[in-house]
Amino acid sequence: MAKDQWDGPAGRRVKAACFERDKRRNAPCMWCGNPIDYSKGPYRRGGDVWAWSPEHIRPQDRWPELVLEPSNIGAAHFHCNASRQDRAGLAVMGVRSRRW
Ligand SMILES: [Zn+2]
Repeated sequence: MAKDQWDGPAGRRVKAACFERDKRRNAPCMWCGNPIDYSKGPYRRGGDVWAWSPEHIRPQDRWPELVLEPSNIGAAHFHCNASRQDRAGLAVMGVRSRRW
């Protein structure tokens, strides 16, 4: 896993701004397309894996200069975000029941 680019003042600010932006738009997950429950707040380590997490639209390893660019940051469930990183860009997920 890449080191956490959200640590530090700039990262925290951008992350908070993107969360508010996506919450206002009620943006769905960019990987599974299902809604995100914004009342959970942003994902926190050890928290609910279906919470919102910031996802880079252009991968950070190829576009490191866009890591903190809000227009390059989309909404994703932490769960979907994490599974995708493990599987090299393939986001094939079953459709889940809406239990969350
Ligand atoms: Zn998702």
